[in-house]
Amino acid sequence: MRDADVVIVGFRCAGAPLAYALHRAGVRVIAIDKDPLFSDQPISTHAIQPYGMKVLDRLGLGDLVRDLAPPNSAFRFQMEDSYLQMDLDGAYHDSRSPRRSVLDPALQRAAVESGVEVRDATRVTDLSRDGERVVGVRVKNLAGSEYEIRAPLVVGADGRHSTIAKLTGAPAYLESTSPHGIYWSYFEKTPLFDTDPRYDWGACIHIEGNQARAVFQTDSNLLLLGASGPNDVVRSWRSDPTAALHEQLARGTLTAPLLEGSRMVAPPVGQISMSFFMKRAVGPGWALVGDSGLHINPTPGLGITDALRDAAALADAIVAGGERAMQLYWRRRDAESIGLYHFADDMGSETYNNPLNRAAFRGAMNEPSMPARMRRMMDRELRPHDMIPPTMLVRWLLAETLRGNFAPWRWFGSGSRQVNLVKRQQRILDRALARAERGELDDALPHL
Ligand SMILES: Cc1cc2nc3c(=O)[nH]c(=O)nc-3n(C[C@H](O)[C@H](O)[C@H](O)COP(=O)(O)OP(=O)(O)OC[C@H]3O[C@@H](n4cnc5c(N)ncnc54)[C@H](O)[C@@H]3O)c2cc1C
Repeated sequence: MRDADVVIVGFRCAGAPLAYALHRAGVRVIAIDKDPLFSDQPISTHAIQPYGMKVLDRLGLGDLVRDLAPPNSAFRFQMEDSYLQMDLDGAYHDSRSPRRSVLDPALQRAAVESGVEVRDATRVTDLSRDGERVVGVRVKNLAGSEYEIRAPLVVGADGRHSTIAKLTGAPAYLESTSPHGIYWSYFEKTPLFDTDPRYDWGACIHIEGNQARAVFQTDSNLLLLGASGPNDVVRSWRSDPTAALHEQLARGTLTAPLLEGSRMVAPPVGQISMSFFMKRAVGPGWALVGDSGLHINPTPGLGITDALRDAAALADAIVAGGERAMQLYWRRRDAESIGLYHFADDMGSETYNNPLNRAAFRGAMNEPSMPARMRRMMDRELRPHDMIPPTMLVRWLLAETLRGNFAPWRWFGSGSRQVNLVKRQQRILDRALARAERGELDDALPHL
C-alpha cells in the first residue's frame, strides 16, 4: 500500500519546484514541511544567479519570479577597486533577488495551485523501512497527531540540518567550515542607487580588506545590505546588531553612500560558524536535494541556484525511473558542483583578499575576453578553475612585476596547489559520472 509515489520533505527552493515538476509530469507527490504555509526562510540572503533564472524558466516558473523583483542590470564580483561584471538583459540573461519571504511563498503557491498535496506544519520524525529500503516517513503535526506516509521514494529537501540525511546516515565526503559570519538587513532604496554610475549593476559582492559586503536590489524598493567578517568579530556584533551592521556598512566604499537618507526597515539577521558539505545524494528508497545533500559557502550566493538545478535534475531522474537515473543524478550533481564548492569556500576564506587575487581581479578587469568568460562560468559552461587560463594569469603577473609589484608571486605556489587539488577532485568526480553514464551501478563514495 502506498500513499504517494514520492514524499518530499521540505517545501522551499528545492522541495517546492521539485513537487511542482513531478506533479506536472503525472507523479503522485505528497510534500511535507514543518513550517506553516506560506512562510519565510529568514536565514538566507537571496541573489538568484542567471543560471538559476534559466532553470526557473525551464521549470515554467521564471516569469513568476520575474514578477517578484526588478531585474539586476548586472551581477558584479568586486575586490577592492577592481571587478568582474556580467551584464544582464532581464530576460535571457537575468538575475533577481526577491526576499525569501516573497520568493518561498510564490514557489509554494505555484505548486499548491498546480495541485500538489502539501501537509504543512508537519514534521518528519522517523523513516519507515523494509529491510535496508526506505518505504515512507513517520510524521507529527501541530495538533500532535502522529502517522505514517508510505511511498517508494522519500526525498529530503529539508535543508542543511536535514532530518532525512541524518536518518538515512547519508555520509559526507567533503566538509569545510567558514571563518566568517554575516549580518544583513533591508534598507530603503534611495534615488542614488538608480542614478549613480557606481551602482550600474543591481547585485554586487564586494570584498574590501577582510570583509565582504553584499548589495542586492530586492523587491518593494528595498536593498539588502550585508556585511561579513571573521567569526570572532561578528560574534561581538550580536549584542547590538543594528549598530554593528550600520557601522560595518558605513565603512564600505559602496555601501556607505547607500545609507544616506535611508532607513533600515527590519531587524538585522545573522549567521555565524557555518559549516558546509557534500553528501551521498541517493540510496535505497531515498534521495537528497538542495542544501540537505550539498551545502556550500554562501559568499557568492549560489545555493538557491544549485537547489533549483538539482530539483530539476532530480525530477527528470524520477520521471525516467530506475536506479541508473538516480545514480546519474547524484554523480552529475557532484561533477557540476565541485569547482563551485571550492570557488565559494575560497571566496569566503580569510585569505581571499591576497596580492595574487587582487592582481587577478585587476588583470581580469582590463582583459577584453573576461566578461565573456565570466558569462560562460556563470552559465555553468566553464568551470571556475578554468575561467582564467594559466597563460593569461602569468601574463597579468608579469605586467604587475614590470610595475614593481612582486607580491603576487609569493601566493602563486599556494594558488597553484589549490587549483591542482580542485582539478584532481574534478577528475575523480568526472570519472564517477562517466561510469554512471555507461550504466555501471557504482555505489562507492568518492575518495576526495
Ligand atoms: C547566510 C546565508 C546566506 C545565503 N545567501 C544566499 C544567496 O544570496 N543566494 C543563494 O542562492 N543562496 C543563498 N544561501 C543558500 C540558500 O539559503 C540555500 O541554498 C537554500 O535555502 C536551500 O534551499 P532548500 O530548499 O534546500 O532548504 P531550505 O530553504 O533550508 O528549506 C528546507 C525546508 O525543510 C523544512 N524541514 C526541515 N526539517 C524538516 C522536518 N524534519 N520535517 C519537515 N520539514 C522539515 C524546513 O522547515 C524548511 O522549510 C544562503 C545561505 C545562508 C546560510
